[in-house]
Amino acid sequence: MNEYFCCSGVLFSCCDSLILVWINSMSQAIYTCITCHIAFDDAELQRSHYKTDWHRYNLKRKVVALPPVSAENFAEKVANQQKIVSFYDLSKAY
Ligand SMILES: [Zn+2]
Repeated sequence: MNEYFCCSGVLFSCCDSLILVWINSMSQAIYTCITCHIAFDDAELQRSHYKTDWHRYNLKRKVVALPPVSAENFAEKVANQQKIVSFYDLSKAY
């Protein structure tokens, strides 16, 4: 778990500077996430997106050269993962 957060922290700052460069090279200022291939109306939405598990998941996929998943796909995966997490929580309790 620790490794995951440490790793995504490094990726986050790296990803962030890439986005800045990308936006600067464009004539129109739009807020985007190049990792998830989506655009936002304002910087606040973009910032809160970076904190989502969906974005972190896509960052991890990017590292292994996989395309990003849509929000719908991610919701499905989370639903499956929660079953696994609750299983680990149970085994930890004993
Ligand atoms: Zn994203």
